[in-house]
Amino acid sequence: MDLLKGEAPRATYFGIIYAAACVIVMPVLARAKRRVAAQLNSQALHADSHQSDICAYLSLILLLGLALNAVLGWWWADPVAALCMLPIIIREGIAGLRGETCSHAHF
Ligand SMILES: [Zn+2]
Repeated sequence: MDLLKGEAPRATYFGIIYAAACVIVMPVLARAKRRVAAQLNSQALHADSHQSDICAYLSLILLLGLALNAVLGWWWADPVAALCMLPIIIREGIAGLRGETCSHAHF
């Protein structure tokens, strides 16, 4: 645990670029998948589009953490960002296991 040891994780510019790319690309990908899923009437592909949405959210959180760390030297922002991702990942994982059908609003 970086947060407990008080060690500063290294700010990696590759990570920032990668996260930024995901934030831009993933919502577009999710939208495309949903369009095809509607045409094929595919529940599986629609569920897959949610993974792309989640990926965008997580990347946004990751990006904020990395940026705060790199720009302001807030080393704790990165581990805190990781902690923020946990409920999202767990919630999505449970919904996926249950095979829940879609009941949320889309962009
Ligand atoms: Zn949906």
